[in-house]
Amino acid sequence: MRLVIRKEPFGYLLFDKDSREHYFIEHAGSLEGVSRDDLYAFLAKYYGAKVYNQPIVFIRPPLSHLELSAPVGMYLEIARSCNLNCSHCYKPKAWELEKIGHVNPMSIDVIKQTLEELKRLGVLEIRLCGNEPTHSKDFFEVCVFIQKLDLYLGINTNAYFEDGIGD
Ligand code: SF4
Repeated sequence: MRLVIRKEPFGYLLFDKDSREHYFIEHAGSLEGVSRDDLYAFLAKYYGAKVYNQPIVFIRPPLSHLELSAPVGMYLEIARSCNLNCSHCYKPKAWELEKIGHVNPMSIDVIKQTLEELKRLGVLEIRLCGNEPTHSKDFFEVCVFIQKLDLYLGINTNAYFEDGIGD
């Protein structure tokens, strides 16, 4: 496990980068100043003994005066199409988007800038969605970039894969 402890106005957000398990804790004192042993003992109340000796990073987002300094996770739509056509689907189809002038998903450059900005603001998790995110030609590049930023990567997919991923 790899813990991030994010400063919040009410105390802290604890976030495990590997499992996504997280807690909002009200805490008036400072956790930054306590000894490592005391810190692990405190964290063990939430994560159990497995937390001992695990790496911990403190972050203090720039907007930490807000109710919650940043969202824990954000969804990022990287594809406008899908390889299935479910009758219950509520997502607009590519031709419907075309009709109202929204044809292109974000370019890879805009996606990367957005991800860097979200990281800077203290967001901890990115969940890729679409319609079907694996249908984006940029799918693998976006996944690698998110991992380079050391953010938790989630993918909302129908798990139906074919040859030739890409919009
Ligand atoms: S897999 Fe999901 S996005 Fe694709 S058509 Fe079905 S419900 Fe819609």
